[in-house]
Amino acid sequence: MPNLLELKSVRRTFAIKGSSDTVILDNINLTVKEGEFLAILGPSGSGKSTLLRIIAGLIPASSGSVSYLGNEIFGINPGVAIVFQSFALFPWLTVLENVMLGLEKKPLTEKEKKERSMQVLDIVGLDGFENAYPKELSGGMRQRVGIGRALVSEPDILLMDEAFSALDVLTAENLRRDLLELWLDKKIPTKSIILVTHGIEEAVYMADRAVILSTHPATIVKELTIDIPRWRDKKSPAFLSYVDQIYSFMTKRAATPSVQPQPLLSKKDNGLPQVSAGALTGFLELLEDQNQRTDLYKLADKFMMDIEDFFPLVEASSLLGFSRVIEGDIELTPRGIEFAQAPLLERKKIFSEQIMKNVPIVEKMVRILQSKSNKQINIEFFEEMFTRQYGEKMAQKQLNLLIGWERYAELVEYDDVKEVLYLEGTMQSD
Ligand code: ADP
Ligand code: MG
Repeated sequence: MPNLLELKSVRRTFAIKGSSDTVILDNINLTVKEGEFLAILGPSGSGKSTLLRIIAGLIPASSGSVSYLGNEIFGINPGVAIVFQSFALFPWLTVLENVMLGLEKKPLTEKEKKERSMQVLDIVGLDGFENAYPKELSGGMRQRVGIGRALVSEPDILLMDEAFSALDVLTAENLRRDLLELWLDKKIPTKSIILVTHGIEEAVYMADRAVILSTHPATIVKELTIDIPRWRDKKSPAFLSYVDQIYSFMTKRAATPSVQPQPLLSKKDNGLPQVSAGALTGFLELLEDQNQRTDLYKLADKFMMDIEDFFPLVEASSLLGFSRVIEGDIELTPRGIEFAQAPLLERKKIFSEQIMKNVPIVEKMVRILQSKSNKQINIEFFEEMFTRQYGEKMAQKQLNLLIGWERYAELVEYDDVKEVLYLEGTMQSD
């Protein structure tokens, strides 16, 4: 029996104008068997949607191969259907007509198409809504239409691209449960589901196996079988342990950029995480409130933030020596605790010491200013230096970020009219 789906050494590049091809996906090897529910996890921008489009045959791989039931695919993959995050419904078509689109290419009569679509509407919980228009439906119901349209063609493989992430928490939860029930009770003939997501809990709740992607380019950094009987209890130790494990794989390298030669979440030359001193302060206070050591995943959940929004904060606070990540938990260092508990002026002093110690470029900028007799320098000097290091686009962002940190730390002052940087306390007011 051939594999349902097999990817061999899949690579994909995109030509970005003015520069050479960028590798988005590299050396993706993946086998999916009948009966498997697979989750593909990765930060946004890593290449998950690109990978799904290649599996669906909507775009070709630059090299490598995709096979469905042992046959290499050139063009549209006949065995799959996709559910998109954005629902992608036609507003001028009714619910029924939108679902029927899934059968467009099938050799069926109009009557047969209608009958099958009505059955699917029933299955996805839209019985009675066939004549409604998308705008009359809630987000959750719209996505049910999206799922119905994919299911109606009875694909062997159902591809879902962050299909729940545009929905509010409760709606998403209901829809996940309903889909899982259809799958587990075999109410749909689908042989495999591939769910692309950046939600770790979603992956552990739904999938039999998780594949974790890195970025720049996306390669598979880890495959993990999720061996918990269904239905899964999100509070059980086994569940939480998988969440922690996956979380560690997704953040470990980000939190210790100096140790890992290839951080998962930021390229080697991506520069410093784009986090303002104010945001970092808020984050450290939050951690302090949580008794200093906490499961970062749960923290994100508690504040209903994407875990991804925390990544730069985690990266910055670890880089500056305020926190460290251990097995998916984050804890404040003694320095971090001191900072979080200090009054403002004291905080500035601590911040100054930490950036001077941990960010070599800060120390360098201060030293250059000190070496000048008038203790000032035109910003262009640094702009050019940063452009050589990071390229034009990045340079400005990095420089603004650093000046922000240095101003907060009261190391420098900046006159944005004259575009001159001064050593703190030397700015002339004329
Ligand atoms: P994800 O779904 O994980 O958020 P995508 O697959 O959408 O990521 O995108 C991965 C990377 O590929 C991004 O950097 C994106 O800008 C780039 N990319 C995607 N499609 C194209 C395209 N058609 N042309 C150029 N770059 C693209
Ligand atoms: Mg995407």
